[in-house]
Amino acid sequence: MHLKTLTLRGFKSFASATTLKFEPGITCVVGPNGSGKSNVVDALAWVMGEQGAKALRGGNMADVVFAGTSSRPALGRAEVSLTIDNTDGALPIDYSEVTISRTLFRSGGSEYAINGTACRLLDIQELLSDTGMGRQMHVIVGQGQLDAVLHATPEERRGFIEEAAGVLKHRRRKDRALRKLETMAANLNRLEDLTAEIR
Ligand code: ATP
Repeated sequence: MHLKTLTLRGFKSFASATTLKFEPGITCVVGPNGSGKSNVVDALAWVMGEQGAKALRGGNMADVVFAGTSSRPALGRAEVSLTIDNTDGALPIDYSEVTISRTLFRSGGSEYAINGTACRLLDIQELLSDTGMGRQMHVIVGQGQLDAVLHATPEERRGFIEEAAGVLKHRRRKDRALRKLETMAANLNRLEDLTAEIR
């Protein structure tokens, strides 16, 4: 599995559609200060489901939408697509190439898609969760993050290992199932009350 292309459109400083092609092996992005190198990494994290504006170096999520310059007006939406080579079947989906896309409208609302079909954020998180590219983004090591790992509490360190081992996916599923069970129990109680009132 390797990243093939990353396309940014209206994302941060990338107003026009820009596609980066990656070959297997190491890719270096070089450029002057402020030219958008970190924005490329932000786009990678964002398309893989990053939900924290702070992790993307912004105040709120709408900050990822191109804000305009003196020569170009602001845009109404940001779009990023990431194409992954899946010939080795590392992603649990029957396609040799998988494109995940994320769109955010400045007015609010966002869309996710896998190979052009609309999906939920959860579907993207689940698709990537066994690859180490999950929600916690341990595949992207930001400046200062190594310090954070070294100073992590034992519980936090366990979280890193669980994410990498794919255990966290099942923990999240269990939490979702428990929440549903709680709602069900509350509904049952309500139903019993209503039945008692009718009798
Ligand atoms: P350095 O080498 O200094 O770390 P860099 O190449 O990593 O720089 P980035 O941090 O990726 O640069 O890009 C910063 C630039 O992106 C700034 O010029 C900033 O104005 C621009 N930028 C960030 N968000 C937006 C946005 N929403 N709209 C337009 N431009 C943006």
